[in-house]
Amino acid sequence: RRLSVQITPLMGAESGGAVIVLHDITELRRLETIRQEFVANVSHELKTPLSSIKAYTETLLGGALHDEQHAMSFLGRIEEQADRLNALIQDLLSLARIESAEQTFDLAPVVVGEAVAACLSDYTPQADARGIRLLAESDEPQAEVVADPEGLRVILNNLVDNAIKYTPDGGSVTVGWKVVEEDYVRLSVTDTGIGIPKDQLPRVFERFHRVDKARSRELGGTGLGLSIVKHLTQSFGGSVAVESKIDHGTSFYVTLPKS
Ligand code: ADP
Repeated sequence: RRLSVQITPLMGAESGGAVIVLHDITELRRLETIRQEFVANVSHELKTPLSSIKAYTETLLGGALHDEQHAMSFLGRIEEQADRLNALIQDLLSLARIESAEQTFDLAPVVVGEAVAACLSDYTPQADARGIRLLAESDEPQAEVVADPEGLRVILNNLVDNAIKYTPDGGSVTVGWKVVEEDYVRLSVTDTGIGIPKDQLPRVFERFHRVDKARSRELGGTGLGLSIVKHLTQSFGGSVAVESKIDHGTSFYVTLPKS
């Protein structure tokens, strides 16, 4: 632990007194390092798609435009990279809003079963296309949580989106929920996917942490989804957890106050 000492003489004090302020700079340094890493990560993440867009554009301008087949393929890639930039900026804005104290949530009772049904119906086309079964499972269909409905939708969508992304074709994704410790509802999103190595589990909720960067990018990931899930859940007075077994699957848990 390091302290910095600031000594300010008292103005007009005949006694020659002074005010001594001790700052704990260990914590300040830590926060500054986190901030610097975040800025470096954001810059890198923004630069990668931009460099691709620039390279494809240069190739088109350099003559590839006249070769229709190549031109179409390059334009397709430019569009992909622009979509990626857009997703990244959207996620960064959500995260910034959730973290700023200004964000207020409209906390209200939400029937979990209804929120889950809406989410699964949004993802049915995507799952069907890959032969992945989406299931909702609970003995307590009427259970309600206190949450911001839009925030709960974002939490569920991020977890189900990941579960589908990281599950091979033909697998399944199950969303369950049950009342725990009387006052809480624990939601689970379980997949039969690739799993997460044990040493990576504590880090998956960190911003931009990805087990396999190339795979995440290829699948359109921003590396911010789980950190948004964690911040939203905590804003609603809840907590997150994860369990996983390589090549068997992963379960994410979100525990929220019961209504
Ligand atoms: P991304 O946009 O890369 O999916 P997330 O913050 O949502 O970012 O997730 C962080 C990382 O955690 C992912 O890159 C992936 O490596 C891992 N991950 C998240 N969900 C799952 C899952 N259901 N199965 C396996 N790995 C997962």
